[in-house]
Amino acid sequence: MNFRSVLDSSPIFEKVKSTAAKLGVETYVVGGFVRDLILKRPSKDIDFVCVGSGIELAKSVASAIHAEKKIQVFKNFGTASIQYKSYDLEFVGARKESYQRDSRKPIVEDGTLADDQNRRDFTINALAISLNEETYGDLVDPFDGVKDLKRKTIRTPLDPDVTFSDDPLRMMRAVRFASQLKFDIEPDTFDSIIKNADRLQIISQERITDEFNKIISSDTPSYGFKLLYHANLLDKFFPEFQNLLGVDEKNGLKHKDNFYHTLQVLDNTAKYGGDLWLRWAAILHDIAKPATKRFHPKQGWTFHGHEDKGARMVPKIFKRFKLPMNEKMKYVQKLVLLHLRPIPLVRDNITDTAVRRLLFDAGDDIEDLMTLCRADVTSKNPNKVQKYLKNFDIVEQKMKEVEAKDHVRNFQPPIKGEEIMDTFELPPGREVGIIKNDIKEAILDGVIQNNYKEAHAYMLTLGEKLNLKSVK
Ligand code: ATP
Repeated sequence: MNFRSVLDSSPIFEKVKSTAAKLGVETYVVGGFVRDLILKRPSKDIDFVCVGSGIELAKSVASAIHAEKKIQVFKNFGTASIQYKSYDLEFVGARKESYQRDSRKPIVEDGTLADDQNRRDFTINALAISLNEETYGDLVDPFDGVKDLKRKTIRTPLDPDVTFSDDPLRMMRAVRFASQLKFDIEPDTFDSIIKNADRLQIISQERITDEFNKIISSDTPSYGFKLLYHANLLDKFFPEFQNLLGVDEKNGLKHKDNFYHTLQVLDNTAKYGGDLWLRWAAILHDIAKPATKRFHPKQGWTFHGHEDKGARMVPKIFKRFKLPMNEKMKYVQKLVLLHLRPIPLVRDNITDTAVRRLLFDAGDDIEDLMTLCRADVTSKNPNKVQKYLKNFDIVEQKMKEVEAKDHVRNFQPPIKGEEIMDTFELPPGREVGIIKNDIKEAILDGVIQNNYKEAHAYMLTLGEKLNLKSVK
């Protein structure tokens, strides 16, 4: 296979070729870029490997393309990168790696292209395209990577036990690529992951989370989750999720399997275009079901309070996964806490108060909450699904009407604390808080309208009740 015409379509390859020729170093495009080129997935990250110093080549290329200011050198790793237009160009010298048992950090020596291809994780990532004069554009595919791309197979170039034991992160990467590309993992490779799953413990949480987030972000994340589960990897870093698995039966009553239910909710959120954090909310929405599960002879299986307990579990899980403990975590926590709230709003006799309270509690995340609720409808009966989704249409319509009327979504109290203090000559303290909160409750309950005039009058009545003297 020759890719000369592809290389000709971007001037960067010609530049790297001529620079490498001047320096007299053999150079290739390798890895993900070549894989994605054959898969017709456009990619802006291009990795170059040369038999020599990657840093020297990068410096010369940078000066040839007048990008001296866009080069970053990582001396410790022997690599350099250049930001060129929309491309991220990475340069490295070909290397040979050997590993010790307790670390994924290899001992690195200079090597040939073949050594470099041997150290790659999968056959589909070990493809190289020559940038050398005689062979310009030729594909170097020592492990039948193209065949594996056609067969949609993830396979290690060498003995999988060696590949995974050397660097156990590759087990997560195998599942990640399978999930992203919708590929199978070749049976021997998969068996070896099962065998080496315990070795995941030497991998840092940040790296595991990075791959896991890529699995979560794929089109059908349930596929990646099922692979992780069957490979014995999932319980190594996410036992709470694996705990969702299984069905109990008592007095002939069963509950649904919350593992597969959650995966379907996750796939639905993905279909609705949910971003990583909405997907995390889907993953965690029922996470406390095992901990809150009870059997009542009359009611059957219940999971009372799982939304509360689940919301309380969110920070702990985020912390352990080294996910950001910022507004993203708060967002996921909020959605987990509120995920049941829209359901009773489908009743005919629903009051504006309930709708207002939900709008107030969800604020700007109300649309995402409704997306999660829709995704949470996973009945096998399509008529039921249609019925529930229609009901949510009605709830959303109702929300629009209430919001247009009452503006509670981004609620700003019409009376500020200072005004309460001024009116009753109060110092800052509990009483001010009580009055402020009572006004807010009155608005949410629909006792008064959300405007200054009504709120002010209500404040004065509250003051009277509390025997406060108004000085204004
Ligand atoms: P993506 O950009 O989607 O993450 P990629 O294949 O470009 O995919 P990178 O993580 O950027 O992934 O890695 C670039 C290349 O480096 C890979 O294609 C592979 O050849 C090699 N590589 C990366 N990580 C490893 C690893 N842990 N073990 C062996 N080879 C690896």
